[in-house]
Amino acid sequence: MNTQQTDSPSIVDEWEESLRSRYPAPGSEKPQEAFRDYRAEARPSVKEFYRLNHHHQTFDFVQQKKAEYLPLRKKQMGIWEAMEFLNTLVDDSDPDTDLSQIEHLLQAAEAIRADGHPRWFILTGLIHDLGKILCLFGEPQWCVVGDTFPLGCAFSDKIVFPEFFTDNPDSTNPTYQTTHGIYTANCGLDNVQLSWGHDEYLYQVTKSYLPEPALYMIRYHSFYPGHKEHAYDHLMNKHDHDMFDWVRKFNPYDLYSKAAARPDVAALKPYYEGLIAEFFPPVLAW
Ligand code: FE
Ligand code: FE
Repeated sequence: MNTQQTDSPSIVDEWEESLRSRYPAPGSEKPQEAFRDYRAEARPSVKEFYRLNHHHQTFDFVQQKKAEYLPLRKKQMGIWEAMEFLNTLVDDSDPDTDLSQIEHLLQAAEAIRADGHPRWFILTGLIHDLGKILCLFGEPQWCVVGDTFPLGCAFSDKIVFPEFFTDNPDSTNPTYQTTHGIYTANCGLDNVQLSWGHDEYLYQVTKSYLPEPALYMIRYHSFYPGHKEHAYDHLMNKHDHDMFDWVRKFNPYDLYSKAAARPDVAALKPYYEGLIAEFFPPVLAW
């Protein structure tokens, strides 16, 4: 991923770029950069993306999207087919310097494989962003990518650009604006409504087929206010806290595996088709 480019790639890529700027790879930052202000550094397009995201992701909006997508009646396809489908999501940046979606998935998987992790972990790297096909179903990017956060309770000021929540209709609902809101203390994240996006959608598609740590990685990998900022410990139960060790173990492979060489998709395909077949049926409901 070339950070020098001046033309604007799609927000799908820009969001991940902005995450690396907010959360630099351990050991990569100069000491004074630990205190950088992401607001000053964010591109106007990234700011606008978060303004829309924070404005429109409401408790009711999430219920609407779940009702629309979670019957899983949009498409029938296998995992590799879904990877090729996602790859038709092209951004307008330089194809020579930006990784395609399939290359990002393969790089994450290959980095996990190189570190000797279990096969289900490698597979999780391979598929973790397939929920981004929501963009291909016509969803705007602000409801596919971006940090996720709970609805139905107070917005944490640890969420990126918290000031944009003043435009969110839920901000004026007193029931939603206490620390626990509609939830009880440590009720468990499975009972909490997070903002809608590619994490929850893929979790629902894959939940019958993968071990639980894999499902936590998929479902919460964009929940930076939770796994990085610890802003919602009061809603998490003991099991969530245990499982978030896996979410944190996965995160560097998502954010920092991009600097390596481009993967050879055709050469890797047979290995990954075998791995997919170990866990998934030939066709899944999306
Ligand atoms: Fe993702
Ligand atoms: Fe990713």
